[in-house]
Amino acid sequence: MIPYGDAIQLNFGGFIPLSTVDWRGRSVCTVFFRGCPVRCTYCQNAAILAGEDFRDIEEVISLINGSKLATSGVVFSGGEPTMQKDALVALARAARNLGLATGLQTNGVFPDTLEALIGDRLLDRVALDIKARWARYNNLLGGNYVKNVQRSLDLCTEALRNGALSEFQIVITLFRGYDDEVAIIAAESGDVDLVLQQGVTERVPPLSEKELKSIADGIPRRVLIRTREGGEIVYESDRSRRTSRKRQG
Ligand code: SF4
Repeated sequence: MIPYGDAIQLNFGGFIPLSTVDWRGRSVCTVFFRGCPVRCTYCQNAAILAGEDFRDIEEVISLINGSKLATSGVVFSGGEPTMQKDALVALARAARNLGLATGLQTNGVFPDTLEALIGDRLLDRVALDIKARWARYNNLLGGNYVKNVQRSLDLCTEALRNGALSEFQIVITLFRGYDDEVAIIAAESGDVDLVLQQGVTERVPPLSEKELKSIADGIPRRVLIRTREGGEIVYESDRSRRTSRKRQG
């Protein structure tokens, strides 16, 4: 029997038993948490932002366990997983007990949950969405979120530095017309690995891989570029190569 918190339930958003796209270099299963306080117009999982489908944690642990033979990790996604702190901590602990690596995709608005997970060494990887430059954050998201997201960024950056996290990246979902935002977010977020993800809506054509590379040319560090047509590639601009050569002396 795998230990877990008494009577903890998850507002369940779905389960993918095998994914090769949620964690570069790993086959994982993905647990989706229902609910998110934010309402991004481009959300790909809008169907699980609200509503209720409560499941016992034990049931979800069984799903994870059932995928174990084909996977080496679990990704917690949503919705916003950190909104359900008790369920997320219990599932991450259960995954650890099963010998699985744990990854989290988060918007960072619940830093207390991140702090608990990192404090108990229950996470290996965090992908943190950064939606805009800090000055535009609260207006864009329609709430007072910026301080929480900044705290999440600081927590994860420090955890990566001190070895409590093995992987940390920030993810920018980019839409045509917002190119200037990228260099500002990159500067405001420190030296963390950065993913430029092609934003897709019905209203404007998405940026191509070539256009995203050209935007990444303005950033002095290596970038992962993620598009529907090309998957995920590592892109190192001339500027980024020069910067890393300087750092190496
Ligand atoms: S923060 Fe993430 S889950 Fe929430 S609405 Fe935005 S894209 Fe969707």
